[in-house]
Amino acid sequence: MRSLALHWKILIGMLLGVVFGFLMLQVQGGAGFVSNWVKPLGTIFVKLLKLIAVPLILASLIKGISDLKDISKFASIGLKTIVIYVLTTVIAISIGLTLVNIFNPGNGVSDATISTLTDTYANSTNVQGKIAEATRQQESGPLDFVVDMVPENAFSALSNNKLMLQVIFLSLFLGISLLLIGEKSAKPLKDLFDSLNDVVLKMVDLIMLTAPYAVFALLAHVVVSSGDPELLYALLFYASVVVGGLLLMVCFYLIVVAVVVKKNPFWFLKQISPAQLLAFSTSSSAATLPVTMERVEEHVGVDKEVSSFVLPVGATINMDGTSLYQAVAAVFIAQALNFDLTFTDQLMIVLTALLASIGSAAVPGAGMVMLVIVLESVSFPADKLAVGLALIFAVDRPLDMCRTVINVTGDATVSTLIAKLEGKLHDAKPKDWDDHWEEVK
Ligand code: ASP
Repeated sequence: MRSLALHWKILIGMLLGVVFGFLMLQVQGGAGFVSNWVKPLGTIFVKLLKLIAVPLILASLIKGISDLKDISKFASIGLKTIVIYVLTTVIAISIGLTLVNIFNPGNGVSDATISTLTDTYANSTNVQGKIAEATRQQESGPLDFVVDMVPENAFSALSNNKLMLQVIFLSLFLGISLLLIGEKSAKPLKDLFDSLNDVVLKMVDLIMLTAPYAVFALLAHVVVSSGDPELLYALLFYASVVVGGLLLMVCFYLIVVAVVVKKNPFWFLKQISPAQLLAFSTSSSAATLPVTMERVEEHVGVDKEVSSFVLPVGATINMDGTSLYQAVAAVFIAQALNFDLTFTDQLMIVLTALLASIGSAAVPGAGMVMLVIVLESVSFPADKLAVGLALIFAVDRPLDMCRTVINVTGDATVSTLIAKLEGKLHDAKPKDWDDHWEEVK
């Protein structure tokens, strides 16, 4: 398979995984076989990606900052990152709200479907767990998320993948201090992080060698564990509205790449496609982050000074796909359960979905937790929350896969855009896992 481009190999792995999953559904005990013997391959792959996420952020951000010739450049990158992330999220939410108000997918849901979905999911641990998780998150104070960004113990920050913002904070602090001690004293530590950064990127190349097989396992498992096809069918209209919105978001990114970045948008898509395919297969922008960084730096040509900050921050706070989905899902639930939303309510959805996308974890299913908070912001009755979530639960996994692709594409587009604005977009110089193979074999 060596001559085929990586994205084709991954795509073939995905398709074979889907076909294998369907075949196994026809065989007695097939689903169990996939869960016990096939899925672990995908789980190991996701664990490997998560394993290198923290060292990669640490090394690449410290390298990025310590390479800066002018520290004020960093303030400009930081400000542009936040402003552009907020803008793209607001655009995503507006697209979602416009589509759901035009097509009204919730109005066509029959009472029979509502009661089947409620019976199947409303009391499930999954739905109840999401509501409980949302309540926990809501109990925190308004500035808690800023306080939470600052670690009190460097090692515990580095030992928990969920504390990505703390790792970013620590890396920034270390990188800036390294700049301030002068070139001579900084050199040993800087060389260490430079080398660590190269090593971790090589680990990404090595892990990616197994990607086609891992996505096979991940997708076969998604197929054997998906819900009743009839329930999926009942939600097809709603799901199509979400997917239609996500596709419009892709068009928006491609226009930005063509008009502002002045690159061929299809070339851009091809360069980042392995990251998109992994986002789809894993439903996790955090797990995909190492691959997104590798693709954007080595294959698109974004300077590390930009990508090392913009991408990890984006994986944590910028979720265009998730916020678009939350807007559509919130209005869909309101329509299906005859809960009237005023114009002010819809504006409230824009605001809370924006905050929710910042607060959502970059892991599978996180968007649904924040959806509870979006619904509560428009005074949706608490006793109907479980029914509301039950309505969309059957299609949540496939939609999660799609929205994660948009989350990752949004981060890649914004980092390329900022690189362009800062004059930090270079010619791509892809590296391969075996560039130095001759020297060591
Ligand atoms: N799975 C999404 C991500 O990791 C978050 C979500 O929408 O649930 O980006």
